[in-house]
Amino acid sequence: MNNVESEDIIKRLLVARNTYAEQLSEKIKLIEDYWIQLQDEWNVEKSYNLLETVHNLSGSGGTFGFLDVGNASKQVEKYLVAFVKNTKQPKEVEKNEITNQINNLKKITIESLKNKEEIISALPKISVSRKIIAQDIKKVFIVEDDVVISAELSSQLSCYGYSTYCFETLCDFQKTIDNNIPAVIIMDISLPDGNGADYMKRLNSEQKLEIPIIYMSSNGDINSRLKTIHAGGVAYFLKPLDILRIIETLDTLTSEPEVIPYKILIIEDLKNISQYIGMILEKAGMETRIENNPLNVLNVLNEFQPDLILMDVYMPECSGSELARIIRQLESFVSTPIVYLSGEGDIIKQLDAIKHGGDDFLSKPIHPNHLVMSVTSRIERFRALRSYMIKDSLTGLFNHATILEQLTQEVALSKRQNGKLVFAMIDLDHFKAVNDTYGHSAGDRVLVSLARLLKQRLRSSDVIGRYGGEEFSIIFPDTDVESAMVVVDELRISFSEIQHYFNEDSFSVTFSCGLASFPTHLNTASIIDSADKAMYIAKEERNKIVASE
Ligand code: GH3
Ligand code: MG
Ligand code: MG
Ligand code: MG
Repeated sequence: MNNVESEDIIKRLLVARNTYAEQLSEKIKLIEDYWIQLQDEWNVEKSYNLLETVHNLSGSGGTFGFLDVGNASKQVEKYLVAFVKNTKQPKEVEKNEITNQINNLKKITIESLKNKEEIISALPKISVSRKIIAQDIKKVFIVEDDVVISAELSSQLSCYGYSTYCFETLCDFQKTIDNNIPAVIIMDISLPDGNGADYMKRLNSEQKLEIPIIYMSSNGDINSRLKTIHAGGVAYFLKPLDILRIIETLDTLTSEPEVIPYKILIIEDLKNISQYIGMILEKAGMETRIENNPLNVLNVLNEFQPDLILMDVYMPECSGSELARIIRQLESFVSTPIVYLSGEGDIIKQLDAIKHGGDDFLSKPIHPNHLVMSVTSRIERFRALRSYMIKDSLTGLFNHATILEQLTQEVALSKRQNGKLVFAMIDLDHFKAVNDTYGHSAGDRVLVSLARLLKQRLRSSDVIGRYGGEEFSIIFPDTDVESAMVVVDELRISFSEIQHYFNEDSFSVTFSCGLASFPTHLNTASIIDSADKAMYIAKEERNKIVASE
């Protein structure tokens, strides 16, 4: 988010608080009116109106900075609730107590409004983390005294486009790092002139370096690992090294971070509270959707696909825990985090809400930083978990099941919108021979290199998956066969030109591809079947693309 947007949100936050402050006196007046009428003649509906107004104040006061008002209304609410819920008319002494409490609430509100400016200017600061990206994102320093290891690492990294610089001692490394900054450092822990982690810890604190470091060691004990965490370590590899996994780590560290903003669905019947929370989360760079009517939740869920649901506990139409139970019945949202945001301070009720499918409970008023942090950490875990479930571990592409699911969704979407799409099935040529000649791990590297090529060249809207062993697939939404053909043919040529290195040797690999499209084929099964058949026709020549009729 840029500064202008962020300033804009701060302004909107201020406006929201001001509006709230302006409405406070009216709300107190309303509470007083209801109470006067109720004292004359007890009426169930009115008593609920009174309770609801008080409840809204106790939930919202703290959120907008009027903590005392929030607390005073909570007190009224607590006393009042027994009478209202049991439709029990208060006795004379009890009426006096309610009157006193409402008067107290009024007094506190008037006091708070006097200090309004102070409250409003005390806007909490929200920190948004930023990632520092080195100038040459492919430059890697390797600090390793075992030259066999560093030579092997260096040669394999260079196949994936990294430029490597090797150092055998910390002293050598020191001479270079002063005026030459890499994107990532790969460092052995035990080096002839010292311990790598100790050295980097000192260097980091002296020079404020923020370079991610991948540590290597033949020793995996907890103390060594802990030391590297304190010394800029982002990964820890045991020897003998799994170089492909190191490359994967490097790829993640050096790729532009995928900026898909966190998506939060806010379900809360009070418009002002939901807007306020929405603004706080948006200021932290998240995307929010507000739903004030919990009964609309099914539509919104499908359309918005949130990473997390932030939900009020008390809503007129249905309660938060009832809604959580309904959401948990939907297969696609079984694991979406649900966090309750409520003024409910009763631990038993909180536990009950959690039992029915919620993950956590945040009490109103919540400090904006606390809100942002709770939401962020839950979503990070949710996304990591989901990524394990939907991605293939070797290539990081979508796995078979996910590709099928995505194709079904895209076909349904195209049907609704009278759109089009193309499905491509790719199969490597003579891949068995690659494995037989160069070994399985060389074969794996070829698979990874095709995955990387696809990720680099295709649009972010294209869906790329590993369909099976040496088979890949691509969904091109909103594309016709002719355009897809052009794109895949460019990929075919580029891929055939990649040299894969094996010891002193190098070789190249090709692929064949079959295409099938919607609406020529109307359902997922027929699209896959036709693409498969087209691919087998392509296999007659190999290094070729065929589109299904
Ligand atoms: P064609 O040109 O007809 O497609 O020949 P091919 O050798 O590619 O086809 P075949 O289906 O006979 O063999 C596929 C090979 O792909 C066999 C299998 O060992 C290899 N393979 C499948 N999955 C993996 C994997 O994850 N890693 C490696 N290295 N090889 C794999
Ligand atoms: Mg060593
Ligand atoms: Mg095959
Ligand atoms: Mg094959």
